[in-house]
Amino acid sequence: MLLTILILSCTKKTNNKVKTQQYAIDYHSYAQPNKAVATHLNLKLDVHFDTKIIDGVASYLITTQNNASAIVFDTKNLEILKVEANKKPTKFQLEKTDDILGRALKIELPKNAKTVTIYYKTTAKTEALQFLNPQQTADKKHPFLLTQGQAILTRTWIPIQDSPQIRITYNATVKVPNELMAVMSAKNPKQKSKDGVYHFEMKQPISPYLIALAVGDLAYKKISDRTGVYAEKTVIDKAHYEFADMEKMVTAAENLYGKYAWQQFDVVVLPPSFPFGGMENPRLTFATPTVIAGDRSLTSLIAHELAHSWSGNLVTNATWDDFWLNEGFTVYFEMRIMEALYGKDHANMLAAIGRQDLEEELQGMKNTPNDTKLKLNLKGRNPDDGMNSIAYDKGYLFLRTLENTVGRSKMDVFLKTYFNEHAFSTMTTERFIDYLNKNLLDKNDITFNVNEWIYKPGIPKNAITVKSTKFKDVENSINQWKNGKITAKEICNQDWNIQQKIHFIRNIPKEISKVKMNALDTHCSFTNSTNSYITMVWFEQAINHDYHANNVDSKIEDFLMHVGRRWYVSTIYSALKNNGEIKKAFAIYKKARPNYHSVTRNTIDEMLAYK
Ligand SMILES: [Zn+2]
Repeated sequence: MLLTILILSCTKKTNNKVKTQQYAIDYHSYAQPNKAVATHLNLKLDVHFDTKIIDGVASYLITTQNNASAIVFDTKNLEILKVEANKKPTKFQLEKTDDILGRALKIELPKNAKTVTIYYKTTAKTEALQFLNPQQTADKKHPFLLTQGQAILTRTWIPIQDSPQIRITYNATVKVPNELMAVMSAKNPKQKSKDGVYHFEMKQPISPYLIALAVGDLAYKKISDRTGVYAEKTVIDKAHYEFADMEKMVTAAENLYGKYAWQQFDVVVLPPSFPFGGMENPRLTFATPTVIAGDRSLTSLIAHELAHSWSGNLVTNATWDDFWLNEGFTVYFEMRIMEALYGKDHANMLAAIGRQDLEEELQGMKNTPNDTKLKLNLKGRNPDDGMNSIAYDKGYLFLRTLENTVGRSKMDVFLKTYFNEHAFSTMTTERFIDYLNKNLLDKNDITFNVNEWIYKPGIPKNAITVKSTKFKDVENSINQWKNGKITAKEICNQDWNIQQKIHFIRNIPKEISKVKMNALDTHCSFTNSTNSYITMVWFEQAINHDYHANNVDSKIEDFLMHVGRRWYVSTIYSALKNNGEIKKAFAIYKKARPNYHSVTRNTIDEMLAYK
């Protein structure tokens, strides 16, 4: 069934030019941008590590339609102290609380209102923020603070019109303890200030979920004139080595889809509790330290976050039901960047891993087929429910199949024009389909089952199969090993890259005995691997195969205690749960839970029915 989207329009003045902005209905925001919308945020923050609270003042420039008498912001678990309109006190009201959305903040406006200022405090319940104690950092000397805004968490640390289709510019002044450095998704300092005060500017309009802050004992190391890394002292050199290809990636991306629009592309490496692999905050990608493998083998994550500089940050999903527009395009683009840098077979290998993820996801969603559509209907649900392999890998498969049908050169011209024509605006699935039909399919007289791909569950029959010769080798070895034709030692002596090893581990057959698992571990040292991706998939298989040798149980516990990346820890907890080890999962989770960000906690709470 198709969700009907009512399009409302509104005129918006930017640089003296009147632009028509179309707003879709967003079930995940209380804002009514067609009546009154914020266009610029001036943010003042005082970060208190002792109380784990931020004191904030959010001043907005606003535009109203038809003399709107009120403007509505999203808030969640914030303490609102005082509100002004046109610099004079005004009445405000916090509406009733919704568990997912929070509370609407309705502010009365005088005639000709141009500004609104909200004085507020975050609370202990603020979900976007994670205050870490020194023990949870790499250097173990200073505390750390990180934020995660996507999908609808920015409202938990800034009162804001928190819909991805509303774009604002921002300035910020942030006060932190003198020994720490603050960085944001904005123009950033390269050195610590003496007084702990930092000023930021984001000149390009961005969606609220992309406002981000990290505070810690950070240093900066440049890679090229427009790329570099921020990290704690003990991590900075490793990060600089790991991400050395960043400039090459930006150049490759520009060659594909046009000029990089955000001037600077830096990465900040966060402590391991960061809930995601990476978050594409503009100008400053937030990254998990688990991608630092020492051999640059997991850097497709950086290509992914960089690709978001076009798909997501430049052309943004209008609502979270259109999330596949952000992620499907980004995975497609990521593969193209990886192909440009490391060749077709490497990119195909990564794509084959994605296909396996997708098949597993589909398997797990057998009872909820509606969630396997690209266009979702998340009304009344947490938009995080849509952040799974469907948006990423089915979205990718759709675009890859489309490329295969229309040919690469037509696909590239289409995408480059698409990004160029919609730069700094938002996109609904419906508008994208119109644009695709008009500018690619009808124009070239090509028939393609677009509606089936987007509005129907599962994978259409015309999906292409990505073949990787490197993976074929691995699959042959697995068969030979299973049938006793080669030994574990011979497997481990193969000259495989990391992705081949991962493919091997993930496809270890169910019937493999503990004795064989032990032989494998003895020769390949998977339990003690320093590559977090390898250990994650190996731990999953150890649990599936009831394998307990080589101290693997305590390694698993240690991993879950220190790493908070949602994908990693949820894979392991899920393996424990599915193998009758729920008690063990519970016992570890009870200890590890305080180390996790709310995003990870929410997922695992639900998975383990933890209260
Ligand atoms: Zn992404």
